Amino acid sequence: MRELGLAASTVSLRVQELVEAGLLTESGEGASRGGRRPRLLRVAGQGAVALAADLGSRHIRTGAVGLTGDAFDIEDHTVDLTAGPEPALDALAERLGVSDGRLYRGARGSAGDISHVRVDEAAELPCSCGNIGCLETVASGAAIATRCGALVNSRPPKGK
Ligand SMILES: [Zn+2]
Repeated sequence: MRELGLAASTVSLRVQELVEAGLLTESGEGASRGGRRPRLLRVAGQGAVALAADLGSRHIRTGAVGLTGDAFDIEDHTVDLTAGPEPALDALAERLGVSDGRLYRGARGSAGDISHVRVDEAAELPCSCGNIGCLETVASGAAIATRCGALVNSRPPKGK
């Protein structure tokens, strides 16, 4: 509190709001240092979650990640992306659920796709879209597999 310049009453109020929002839970009392025993708090792991999906050419893996970073409720689905994006999008909509019953796809069907966001790690790597430096060139399943294969092949054979 001292480092933040906040009054104890302000911190207490904010903590209470987080408890009421289900983002923190009380986990008992700590040892007293002469005054009132402190309330112990912990992050409510599933108080808020981010839904995640990994789309491959033949599968979709969906799951949730809580505030503590733990993934849970992971499911794998087999899809055939050669049939176009519809089966995958339908599987995603069914699995993740969306508030109005429809997945927002945008005017060109790729809303939310961050594959072609430029990232420093991709530097000057050419992308299938024709640009360079896209996230897809370093973070797609194919890019990771290619990189792993290159690393494995660059190592000297055992015993040499
Ligand atoms: Zn791209």
